[in-house]
Amino acid sequence: MNETKSKHLSIPLLQQRLDKIFSEYIRLRDANENGFSRCATCGTMWRWQIMQNGHYVDRRHIGTRYDERNCHSQCSNCNIGLRGNLDRYKRFIIEKYGVKVLEELESARRSTVKWTIADYQEKIEYYKAQIKRLKKEKGL
Ligand SMILES: [Zn+2]
Repeated sequence: MNETKSKHLSIPLLQQRLDKIFSEYIRLRDANENGFSRCATCGTMWRWQIMQNGHYVDRRHIGTRYDERNCHSQCSNCNIGLRGNLDRYKRFIIEKYGVKVLEELESARRSTVKWTIADYQEKIEYYKAQIKRLKKEKGL
């Protein structure tokens, strides 16, 4: 099969690439210098590589899909098994950022913002650099 150049720049593919990079960033951000991070909703510690990037507002909403305050390391049991463990997640957001941010995230659910190819490319480059920085800083 012939893959054209424009296919590499399609929004779904860029979104897939950014999801992967953003997830790595979130999990590294939350990791300590031994490479472990705490699940935002049940508190268990796991190596960052097996953690997941758990969204409070469902990631189908683009307005909060890449909002760092909406995304934290979560174990697979909370993220998948408990479908986000949202009651606990809500409390976590309030404790960490306050009610105002919670309301902001919840209202961004209704946002109809559209991301362009350039928006995705810019975020991909930004988070790639952040990953490099975090790995160096934490020695991971
Ligand atoms: Zn958990």
